[in-house]
Amino acid sequence: MSNDRLRDVTQRILNAADAAGRPPTRLLAVSKTQPADAVAALATAGQRAFGENYVQEAAAKREALAGTHPGLEWHLIGHLQSNKAALAAEVFDWVQSIDRPSLVDALARHRPTTRGPLNVLVQVNAEGETGKAGCRPEDLPALARRIAAEPRLLLRGLMSIPVPHADPEQRRPAFQHMRQLFEALAADHAHVDTLSMGMSDDFPIAIAEGATLVRIGTALFGARTR
Ligand SMILES: *Cc1c(COP(=O)(O)O)cnc(C)c1O
Repeated sequence: MSNDRLRDVTQRILNAADAAGRPPTRLLAVSKTQPADAVAALATAGQRAFGENYVQEAAAKREALAGTHPGLEWHLIGHLQSNKAALAAEVFDWVQSIDRPSLVDALARHRPTTRGPLNVLVQVNAEGETGKAGCRPEDLPALARRIAAEPRLLLRGLMSIPVPHADPEQRRPAFQHMRQLFEALAADHAHVDTLSMGMSDDFPIAIAEGATLVRIGTALFGARTR
């Protein structure tokens, strides 16, 4: 069942990248609220990278699947509370939601030396919405330099969650702004290669505007029940 959905989404990603003359785009399967069995089914079908919003939920699934599916890559895409940073630094391979200096310090301090550097993306609030998570574009250069100075962290790029307009086409300017910020960041930092934007209802537009990784939940697993 989910394998058909995986094939369909993979094909739609390929088509969008092809139409836009873009290189292949990575698929992050957003498995929040889904049971470990659903993750295992997609992993068996070949999917490797999974996104989660809550640290403990991800820790439990990683543990449950460590024996049968050892090579999976876990990304935190939800807001990270400072008191969860220590556990997050152990559980995840990527943290996409860094938006403040205190998180940089906590993740760097707690990344186990037995693992490689933690891959991180800065979450940007490109539209300047008040009260929303994400670093302001004007604060991005300083935050990026702070990450780059930490040997236990590897700055890989940017993540954004645009305002949820009913018409996904309305999100295009926000995606274009993110691409400008991403290219400026890549000019300053050698390992920056990832622009994470686009979800189930807008990923073809995000790919056309330069996404290198799309985060897809509903289109892979069906509607979430919680
Ligand atoms: C839930 C979530 C997604 C996936 O959304 P869908 O619409 O189910 O594809 C992507 N990114 C973030 C940050 C999310 O919280």
